[in-house]
Amino acid sequence: MPHAMTVLGPVDPSALGFTLPHEHTQIALWQIPGRYDYWELTRDEPVILDELSLFREAGGASLCDLTLPGVGRDPAWLARLARQSGLNIVMGGGWYRNPYYPPEARIDRRMTDELAEELVGEATAGVGDTGIRIGILGEVGTDKPWVSPAEERVFRAVARASRRTGLAITTHAAQSTVGALQLQILEEEGADPGRIVIGHADSYPRFDHYLALLERGASIEFDFLGMAFEPTEKHGEARVVDLLLELLGRGYGDRILLSQDVCHNSQLRRYKGNGYTYLQTTFLPRLRERGVGAAEIDQMTVANPRRILAIG
Ligand SMILES: [Zn+2]
Repeated sequence: MPHAMTVLGPVDPSALGFTLPHEHTQIALWQIPGRYDYWELTRDEPVILDELSLFREAGGASLCDLTLPGVGRDPAWLARLARQSGLNIVMGGGWYRNPYYPPEARIDRRMTDELAEELVGEATAGVGDTGIRIGILGEVGTDKPWVSPAEERVFRAVARASRRTGLAITTHAAQSTVGALQLQILEEEGADPGRIVIGHADSYPRFDHYLALLERGASIEFDFLGMAFEPTEKHGEARVVDLLLELLGRGYGDRILLSQDVCHNSQLRRYKGNGYTYLQTTFLPRLRERGVGAAEIDQMTVANPRRILAIG
C-alpha cells in the first residue's frame, strides 16, 4: 500500500493535506570553521510549538523537516513536536553540503555504497536505535555553484538509496544553475527524475534554467518564499511570481512545490518574521489575485508534496 513515512510511522498519503515540503524546526549553521555569524533556529520547544500551531490553524497539516546530521537533526525532537502539534512531520536523511558534513560521517573515507547502505537502513529500520524512519532524502546540497568531490559522492549515494527505497530526493541548489549538475549526477545513478526535487529555485530566477530541469522530468521548488535576509529576496518576489505564472501557463503545475525554508530565529512570527504561515497569509493570496485558481494551488500545496512523499 502506498504510504508516507512520518516520524510517528506510516500514514496514508491522502492524510497529508496542505504540506510544506522544505522547512526546519531547529538548525545551527554557525559552528563550522570559518563561519563567524550565529546562524541558528534555536531548539526552543514552546516557541516552535506556538509557531507550528499557527500553521495548523491556518490550514496546514504536514511539513518536512530537512535538518540533517551535522546541523542538528534529532529524531526524538521531531517525534515530540509531531505528537504535540498534531502535524505530520517527515524527517530527512543524508548530508547537507560539504562544509557541514560532520567528521563522524566520514564522507571522504567511506565508499558510496556504504553511505547508501546507511541511508537505506534509516529508511527501513530507523535512525540509530530510535526506530524513527526517514521519509525523504535531503536536503542534500552543493555549497558552491559547482559540485565538490565529497558532494558528488553523497549525491551518488542518495540516488542509490532512492532507487532501493523509493524515497524522493530533495536538494539545496542556491543562486546558480548547479541544480542541473545535481540532477545529472542523480540521473547517472539511475534515480527517477519524477522522484527528484531541485530546491531553492527562487534564489535563481531564470526561466531557461527552470525549463531545463522540468523538461528532464524533475520538480522544482520555490522554497525561499517570504525570506527577507537579502534585498534580492526581500524585493525579488514579483519576478518569482511572474516566472511561476509562466510555468503554470505552460502546464508545469504538477512539477512545482512551494515552501518557506524557516531556518533562522528572525523568521519566526514571535520575532516579527513570517513564520510557517507565509504561504497561507500572503503568497497564495497574491497568486489568487493574479488569477491562479484553487485547483492549481491545491496541486502545488497538496497533490505535489503528496506524490513526492508517497512510497510503496
Ligand atoms: Zn533548508
